[in-house]
Amino acid sequence: MPEAKVTYNFKLNEYELADVQQSDLAKLLELCRENMKDPDEHLIERAFKLTFLSHDGITRASGEPYYLHPLAVAEIIAEEIGMDDVSVAAALLHDTVEDTDITLKDIEREFGPVVMQLIDGLTKISGVFKSKNVKQAETFMKLLMYMAEDLRVVLIKFADRLHNMRTIHHLPRKKQLAIATETIELYAPFAHRFGLYKIKSELEDLCFKATDPTGYKFIARKLKEKKESREEFIDIFMEPIREQLERSGFNFEIKGRPKHIYSIYKKMMRQQKPFEEVYDLFAIRIILDEPHTKEDCWRVYSFITDSYTPIPERFRDFISVPKANGYRSLHTTVITNRGRKVEVQIRTRHMDEIAEKGLAAHWKYKEGAEKQGTEAGFDKFVDWVREVLENPRPDAATEFVEDFQLNLYSQEIYVFTPNGELRTLPQGATPIDFAFDIHSEIGERAIAAKINGKMVPLRNKLSSGDQVEIITGKTSNLNPDWINDVVTHKARSRIRQYIRQEERKVSDEGRESWEKKAERYKFELSDQDLAKIANKLEFPSIQAMFFAIGSESYDVNRLVKAVRGFLSKGRIEGEEEEKLQKDDKKGGSYDDRIIGDAQTANKQMLTMDGNLDNIKYSFSKCCNPIPGDDVVGYISRSGGLKIHRTNCNNLKHLIKTEPEYIVDVSWSKKSGNQFIGAIKIIGEDRVGLINDISNMISTSLKTNMKSINVSSDTGAFEGTIILYVDDLKHLEKVIKRVMKIEGIKQAYRYE
Ligand code: MN
Repeated sequence: MPEAKVTYNFKLNEYELADVQQSDLAKLLELCRENMKDPDEHLIERAFKLTFLSHDGITRASGEPYYLHPLAVAEIIAEEIGMDDVSVAAALLHDTVEDTDITLKDIEREFGPVVMQLIDGLTKISGVFKSKNVKQAETFMKLLMYMAEDLRVVLIKFADRLHNMRTIHHLPRKKQLAIATETIELYAPFAHRFGLYKIKSELEDLCFKATDPTGYKFIARKLKEKKESREEFIDIFMEPIREQLERSGFNFEIKGRPKHIYSIYKKMMRQQKPFEEVYDLFAIRIILDEPHTKEDCWRVYSFITDSYTPIPERFRDFISVPKANGYRSLHTTVITNRGRKVEVQIRTRHMDEIAEKGLAAHWKYKEGAEKQGTEAGFDKFVDWVREVLENPRPDAATEFVEDFQLNLYSQEIYVFTPNGELRTLPQGATPIDFAFDIHSEIGERAIAAKINGKMVPLRNKLSSGDQVEIITGKTSNLNPDWINDVVTHKARSRIRQYIRQEERKVSDEGRESWEKKAERYKFELSDQDLAKIANKLEFPSIQAMFFAIGSESYDVNRLVKAVRGFLSKGRIEGEEEEKLQKDDKKGGSYDDRIIGDAQTANKQMLTMDGNLDNIKYSFSKCCNPIPGDDVVGYISRSGGLKIHRTNCNNLKHLIKTEPEYIVDVSWSKKSGNQFIGAIKIIGEDRVGLINDISNMISTSLKTNMKSINVSSDTGAFEGTIILYVDDLKHLEKVIKRVMKIEGIKQAYRYE
């Protein structure tokens, strides 16, 4: 390695900070004193000076001096994650080696080997996240590797990302979306796995706010509106329990926070339910302060069941059996005398810290004397990671598989090869997927599988942590029915290819037997004629007809008969039919025309960097943007610009794969064009309801309806209205008015 450039020549001990920076430093030191035992203030002060000097003259997107970013990260480390002085110093210095002339050698000389190693890890880890197309399993493995070296590396990285997300609004829209997508797909799940619940929730909310500001504001506003009634409910519910706790001399705290905004949104989407039906799903938490222990949690449980009736099926004892990420708590759901279900969680302060801070709390307690089950488990986890990475041998993995019931992503599972190699598969994957993932030949020759040493059928679903071994035969055993048992693209495409090959063989046989007949009867037919006949006989294609003949489900003599008929008279008939069909196809669909006309009529609907005049653009059909929606443009392969809503799922994919083709656009003031909007309505059925709805929309709101679709049973009805609107405001106005119609319980925009 070439000798590093010697540009670093700051005399930190002698350097005097200006008043502004002096007060920044004082604030940080104060936070450290509050949150840790005897922090090394000299170390933190010098780290602060170096970060200030090395980033001097550089500003962030917000226009602020750069050093405020590492300072904010250090504050998160000290205050919110609650770590040590060395971590604070490393947080202050986290961008120096990557972004300035400072080298690792400089860091080591000035701050010693521990800080140097942390900075080294942080610099490398940002490479892990930056490298595109890196497989998630690889990223995961590398993260585990750095974690095994020093947990603090991972925690500082999360603090860094958290601050970047908190200040994301200063960046251009396009960059915001790219960072938010990466955060929600990589950082948030990792934060979840490491038990950093608080950070994970905030990251998710910030991503949601960045990608779907309207949706975010909507839920945030609604939550605020319900805050008072929620607090009142908790007070009344807790009254008898609070009394008993006080009488028995308990030190405790009661928390009743709602779920975070993004999780409410996900729930609304997943269950297709409006806010009102999911918002009140919150848990009341009773936290017991020192010196209470887990035995006291059980006492509190009995206080609760003295006052309310528990639902036995909903009882969970995560104290005796902690979750994989270290979470411990007692959960019970009880019913109030008014029939409302309430979940109560009981835990000690220590357990609560683990629940909120996960890995971080673990790290903190690790140094202390108190070491409970969870922490020992976590150490075992870290040791195991280290061991597997150092010498991958089969037994090490097998032993740990039981403890390793990862639930990293709900959509993905992690399984192991017999050698302990980690493989990422989508949830629902079977050993067949696994086999094809290893190699297509192994997939084709698979005859059975062993999961965790036990023989299982190939179509059994895999779970995270499974160790999978595929037993293969000498020749191909590929079964077309497998198509229903696989979820990966690789397995699917190979099986489909096989099915097509097999089908071709059969239809070739069918064609052969037809051709023999044709020869014998001296039929002269073009392929077009044959296609017409196949069509008449209700086969989707000639191929399908020959397949039916080849597989003997259709007698070739029936085809001979049909051909005879066709040759004698059908030819003329057929030609006429063709003409009719052609006429039918003219014109295109109504939708296309409306939107097409609207665009040509007025091109000034959108602006891109001030101007969209000469660019052809269209609105994507997947998310149907309307003016007022938060949108961006995507330059498609054909050169045209496609407008997507920022919360569109297809867009999420494009941001990842072709970020360079995403451009910022915004709506111009007034367009005068019409857009498709949809409303979902739910309510009680009554005579004349549909009439009232359509009258309201078309007569009093002067809005054109495209369609209204309603299904009702046993008095309840559900429907979708599709209409033409000017913009988001127009749509919202219609929704508001529809809500007021008698019998309508809910009305909301339908994606
Ligand atoms: Mn940073």
